[in-house]
Amino acid sequence: MIEYLNKNLNDMLELIGKLVNIDSGSKHKAGIDKVGKILIDEYKKMGFTIETQENNKFGNNLIIKHEDAIDTKILLIAHMDTVFPVGTALERPFKIKDGLAFGPGVADMKASQVTLLYAIKHLYETNDDAYKNVIIILNGDEEIGSPTSRKIIENISKSVDYALVMEPARKDGSIVSSRRGGGRYTLNVHGKAAHSGVAPEEGISAIEELAYKTIKLHKLTNHKKGISVSVGIIAGGDAVNMIPDSATGYVDVRVQSEEQSVEINEKIESICSIPDVKGTTIDLEGGINRPPMELDEKNQKLLSLIKEVGDSFGLTVTDTHTGGGSDASFPSHLGVETVDGMGPIGGKLHNEGEYMEIDSLVERCFLLSQTISKLSEETTIKTMSHAK
Ligand SMILES: [Zn+2]
Repeated sequence: MIEYLNKNLNDMLELIGKLVNIDSGSKHKAGIDKVGKILIDEYKKMGFTIETQENNKFGNNLIIKHEDAIDTKILLIAHMDTVFPVGTALERPFKIKDGLAFGPGVADMKASQVTLLYAIKHLYETNDDAYKNVIIILNGDEEIGSPTSRKIIENISKSVDYALVMEPARKDGSIVSSRRGGGRYTLNVHGKAAHSGVAPEEGISAIEELAYKTIKLHKLTNHKKGISVSVGIIAGGDAVNMIPDSATGYVDVRVQSEEQSVEINEKIESICSIPDVKGTTIDLEGGINRPPMELDEKNQKLLSLIKEVGDSFGLTVTDTHTGGGSDASFPSHLGVETVDGMGPIGGKLHNEGEYMEIDSLVERCFLLSQTISKLSEETTIKTMSHAK
């Protein structure tokens, strides 16, 4: 069964190379759409229909299902954007060395795109009708928090039973069973300008206020509980001899549970509502935009099924928690059985040294196709028992 994929390994690598060599940073619409076009053509060859959700600013989001789709209860999510700016692919194009593939976005997640495509191809070529039960979202803005695709994912999540998310497997091979959630806040601090030599008593320093807030916000961090609040960027002031009337702080927040996200949000709002420097005000923007993905009972069910599928062909599948966010949070939050990290094994993500383990490509592709096949059986059984 796995033979088909082994035979196609070179084609898979060639396609990964082609995709890696197209810059598709989240803000480079043309590149993302180019990646989309290549994938669209491949899915079309198998009779899949593509709904393109046009986007002016970011890459188009694609919703893909088969023309003979029956009951699309299995959602697959893979993003086409990367974190790398235009020019990176030219600077360090796709290359293979010592069993590893390198290049911008090779693991996160150009190789995952190809893994997904070939898992579907595998089902198609081996006449396993399971490909008729999938609905695929290829989005173009995951790396910046999915501002346009989140709604699409949430809408489709309402009608599916399972979600498999194609982020790469961790470097030890583990798939991802829980993730922290998080969000971003912006503090726009207003004070009153004055010359710091001539009339300092007339000024109210926005920077001083932001300094107090930075310390208070950082105190919300609790590494043991998985909470992190970090002011990552500050800006403010126009001249060294002026009391600054404005300052801005950009805050990154991570949480481990739904309960924490409510609690931290309340605390941030409360800290920003009371001035430490009299006369300042703060406009607070943002919020928690990715709920945490917790390993609850429903996700545990799907995880166990994937592990069984792995066992059936001699692959021991381990799972792990990771701090970073992904689109897996959205279906999971809406009650869909969700597992992430279904792509091939990769490491040094978002870094220059990003790599993908070539040996894991066929194995993870097979794991995915067999998981889809198994879930299809479950769906059919469920539908039948509902009909009774
Ligand atoms: Zn990713």
